[in-house]
Amino acid sequence: MDRVLIRNADQVVTMDGSRRELSGADIIVGGGKIVAVGQGLQAPAAEVIEARGCVVTPGLVNTHHHLYQSMTRAVPGGQDALLFGWLKTLYPIWGRMGPEELRVSALTGLAELALSGCTLTSDHLYLFPNGATLDDTIHAAREIGVRFHPTRGAMSIGESAGGLPPDALVEREEAILKDMVRVVDRFHDPAEGAMVRVGLAPCSPFSVSRDLMREAALLARDKGVMLHTHLAENDEDIAYSLATFGCRPGQYAEELGWTGDDVWHAHCVKLDPSEIGLFARSRTGVAHCPCSNCRLGSGIAPVRAMRDAGVKVALGVDGSASNDAGNLVAEARMAMLLQRVAHGADAMAAREALEIATLGGAQVLGRRDCGSLEPGKRADIAIWDMTGIEAAGAWDPVAALMLCGPTKVRHLLVEGRQIVRDGQVATIDLPRVIEDQNRLARRLAG
Ligand SMILES: [Zn+2]
Repeated sequence: MDRVLIRNADQVVTMDGSRRELSGADIIVGGGKIVAVGQGLQAPAAEVIEARGCVVTPGLVNTHHHLYQSMTRAVPGGQDALLFGWLKTLYPIWGRMGPEELRVSALTGLAELALSGCTLTSDHLYLFPNGATLDDTIHAAREIGVRFHPTRGAMSIGESAGGLPPDALVEREEAILKDMVRVVDRFHDPAEGAMVRVGLAPCSPFSVSRDLMREAALLARDKGVMLHTHLAENDEDIAYSLATFGCRPGQYAEELGWTGDDVWHAHCVKLDPSEIGLFARSRTGVAHCPCSNCRLGSGIAPVRAMRDAGVKVALGVDGSASNDAGNLVAEARMAMLLQRVAHGADAMAAREALEIATLGGAQVLGRRDCGSLEPGKRADIAIWDMTGIEAAGAWDPVAALMLCGPTKVRHLLVEGRQIVRDGQVATIDLPRVIEDQNRLARRLAG
């Protein structure tokens, strides 16, 4: 039986074309899709999920993460460092990881995301120490059942060539391109409802060559997959671009084919007005990572200006070594608050933050089949219990989700399958995963 009836929700936030919110509404799910949304729906023989007291939203979408980093949270040497110093502290630790560490840290990060309402996440994996592969994280995502867009990252310029990472963590560019082809051919699914789509993602302009950036863009277009990298993250990043390439990051991206509807860049804290115009014209997406930007002191991304210019903006929790949490609904709240710090209390409404976290993410990842609760869309659904202490006394439950809480879902469905049930991950043995995660983290610490 794959029919599910979500019944009597206080509010269903559809994120459809007219942004309808339905009171006392039901949703029927079948065959992995949403069959109907409305009041008084009947679905005999369906499994019933009671949603009285709940707000129901589209599943949240995370567009930037480094799942492997969840094993290196709150590392003492990296706690208070700026981006480049932080990386230099962590590279040698990451160099001691392997396939088992990647699998367990991915399970941990994906479970944390699922509990915070996320049904679709991207991941940016750019180091493959001791035999680790992108496959390790894809197997983890299949285990837990979250819709997954892993990106095959890469670093090729090590310390001896003037780059930031140690030589042992970089790969030859020929080998990188070969493995990019392998993982796309093996795992990428372009079909509607796909559970896995692979992207290509050289780590950043300061850790790969101009050639690899260009080659990756050509390969992505050839294969019909998306491109992702870090861009314009902080002042050091802009200074590096000006000194090394003689231009700003936006120009560098454009020259190498890294703009377009099939590209999204993480951070973009330092985009200037001309770069914002470029991103809007070219339909290039942005993964805004507010907590990471705060944590590393990078600044406040010009999200208000980007949205007003028509740039596609989504959210990313970023890697758990620079957040260090991976809670996506908390990230949406931070996005809203941070724009208010920069531009005043009317700079971003709660509903706009929720839109960026759901529909905005689906648009950036090119998923027309996700991001809203409408018949025919995939059944990726977050059900939030508003009867707890966090929202007690709230007058507007939808706004309360951003302004108060909760920060954890009651139920979560991906492709119609229940991944979180009554606040617990239903598909994996999470206590066991946490135990493994802590054991492996202690081993990395030596
Ligand atoms: Zn990142």
